[in-house]
Amino acid sequence: MLKIHSRCNLACDHCYVYEHADQTWRDRPAVMSAETVQAAADRIAEHAARHALRQVHVVLHGGEPLLVGADRLRDTLERLRRTIEPVAALDLGMQTNGIRLNESVAEILLSHSVKVGVSLDGGPAANDLRRRYRNGAGSYEQTLRGLAVLRLPRYRTLYAGILCTIDLRNDPVAVYEALAAQEPPHLDLLLPHATWDRPPPRPGPDPTPYASWLLGLHRRWLHDGRPMPIRLFDSIASTRQGGGSGTEALGIDVGDLVVIETDGEWEQPDSMKTVAHGAAGTGLNVHAHDAEAVLATPAMRHRRSGLAGLAAQCRVCPVVAQCGGGLYAHRYRSGAGFDNPSAYCADLKALITTMNAQPQPQTRPAAAIGEVPPLWLDEFGSGPGGAPAVRELAAAQLAITRALLAHVGTGLPPGAELAAAAWPAVDALERQSPGAVADVLAHPYIRPWLATCLRPGPQDPPADLDRLAELVAAIAVRAGAELDVPVALRAGRLHLPTLGTLVPRSAHPTRAVVSSGRDGFTVKAPGVLVEVGPGLADGADGWRPTRTLTLGAGAVFLEDADPYRDCFDRRAAAPLTDPAARTWSASLDQAWTLVQRDAPDYAEGLRAGLRAITPLRSGRDEAMHSATARDAFGAVGVAYTADSAALAVMLVHEFQHSKLGAILDLQDLTDPADRRTFAVGWRDDPRPLEGVLQGTYAHLAVADIWRARARRDPSAVAVYRMYRDWTAAALGVLRGSGSLTAAGERFADALAGAVDRWGD
Ligand code: SF4
Repeated sequence: MLKIHSRCNLACDHCYVYEHADQTWRDRPAVMSAETVQAAADRIAEHAARHALRQVHVVLHGGEPLLVGADRLRDTLERLRRTIEPVAALDLGMQTNGIRLNESVAEILLSHSVKVGVSLDGGPAANDLRRRYRNGAGSYEQTLRGLAVLRLPRYRTLYAGILCTIDLRNDPVAVYEALAAQEPPHLDLLLPHATWDRPPPRPGPDPTPYASWLLGLHRRWLHDGRPMPIRLFDSIASTRQGGGSGTEALGIDVGDLVVIETDGEWEQPDSMKTVAHGAAGTGLNVHAHDAEAVLATPAMRHRRSGLAGLAAQCRVCPVVAQCGGGLYAHRYRSGAGFDNPSAYCADLKALITTMNAQPQPQTRPAAAIGEVPPLWLDEFGSGPGGAPAVRELAAAQLAITRALLAHVGTGLPPGAELAAAAWPAVDALERQSPGAVADVLAHPYIRPWLATCLRPGPQDPPADLDRLAELVAAIAVRAGAELDVPVALRAGRLHLPTLGTLVPRSAHPTRAVVSSGRDGFTVKAPGVLVEVGPGLADGADGWRPTRTLTLGAGAVFLEDADPYRDCFDRRAAAPLTDPAARTWSASLDQAWTLVQRDAPDYAEGLRAGLRAITPLRSGRDEAMHSATARDAFGAVGVAYTADSAALAVMLVHEFQHSKLGAILDLQDLTDPADRRTFAVGWRDDPRPLEGVLQGTYAHLAVADIWRARARRDPSAVAVYRMYRDWTAAALGVLRGSGSLTAAGERFADALAGAVDRWGD
């Protein structure tokens, strides 16, 4: 966090910089000098190089950062990009009160892709309760003008979200409605800074008023279908499932935030300014000390020590993995330092336990057919789409799969005896273990199977309804439920989706019974008894678990056995031998490293949505080949290549198709009645309009990758230019077609914003 200006044009009475214990701002320069910006950039680049960081995030902050003026802002951004980008991808952000945000400032921010967060506490009355000028006048109207600039199509991709500080005097639902009206891509709710010495105000008899306030807002947000991510709530949902918190305010992730003040002093995060005068200080300065020295200070070591650094009461707390003792500064008490629970302990506990008792939020989609939230169009249209947005898209896909399954399960024809016997168990399994049901149904090759079952007219071969029994058996195994499911073996194999394949060697039965329980499962048939332990890897007699890769932090199936994987425009390869699987795994591992290096923004969405990679047959033409199928969200088919750089491009390219296909399942972006075809740069044959849209979206990402490569390697510039020109030209075709729907226009505006940001 770079404090480029240490004064503010507002005088909010809850501001921790000016109104709390720390007053060091009085002795600092108002503006960070060019020399200090350069020294800070050098230190960041040095640290990124030492640790081979693929990406660093720099947030311009203050005071009010836009008080530096246009020239200083431009110079700061240029220095940061020039110095850091040769070493690591640079994600630039800014936190502002929005008052000085106009179109000429937005042009500067656009040219450097700076994501802008705006502070706003609600509607006019709620906001102006605290966010006022020194003369007492409110700031709401001016901030709203800044937000209106960010909502213009040209600048929408810069709009990061709104940061709102909670005030119990404001009604939570009214605050939510006022903030939602500004269409923020993300919301952040901040508990007002407090310590045990300076506890949060608790007017009234409610012992946990902050939890009550937040839960009121949470209820309304759920009711609205969660139109935008709210970090506090998403963090609790994520840590509930063992994921990271994504914020230093909750959880036990090790914090990675450090502040550089206008005079170059390294400081701990700003919330420490609420603790005591000088409490945030480290005594180190970018002109003399590197980031390594900051990390080695006792204060930074303590705040980064995770569970071990928490108070005894926190370490035994049932929600410690989700709460993590709250924000470090909020634990402070004179005499005891930070060895305390949070001053918000009771509220945090009440909030987390109440949310934990509610159904998992991801079981309910945020979008219905025909109702893609406009913010999704902005977020995905700009290229990547973050992890929360991709998870929402996956939830919408899961809802479609559930609907198709219900259609098949409730309309079984006479004679489908295995399916009819298994189907009633789905309800009970859903109640017992909704996560197991979701895990199996989210497998990308469930829906292609359902699509074949629902194909109208007489079918040859007949619909494979026996697979329903395999699906129920797989859910029961994942749930650890005590259940016997009779199943059929087709062509001598039993496939339990997401779990594995059994090809018995000792006999060749056509029927078997899968018996699941807490300790794994058995498959029994005449002459066959296979026992598979809870790890799914035990067992003999032809059981082979589904191959799984670990790409980044996420598990992805190397799916070479599912009978419905052959849904791409090139045939799927035969199941891999173990040595071939190891070769694939190594190649994909290298490709993933390159995705993270060259397309870190896309990597986040891939990690959240990519579920399966299926080997395809290599063609005689030697050309590299990859594919997606509209019914198989989250699956990518790839013909083997040892070229990991090409493989990285294919993964990103194909996942763009997967995301766009999922959006198109919900809403048309082009007029389906338009049957014209259009010339595009990347193919010899003219394409229908939806094909142009798909190609534009995929090539936008490819251009982004080559742009990143061109920064390091001049020989990549020509390739980048080729993809850039194809994308820009195809975007012109789309916008000139007159056949984009209103949602399509919005999506195209976001695409255009991304293309504009490239400049020359
Ligand atoms: S709820 Fe309280 S005791 Fe539990 S981890 Fe959070 S601050 Fe500590």
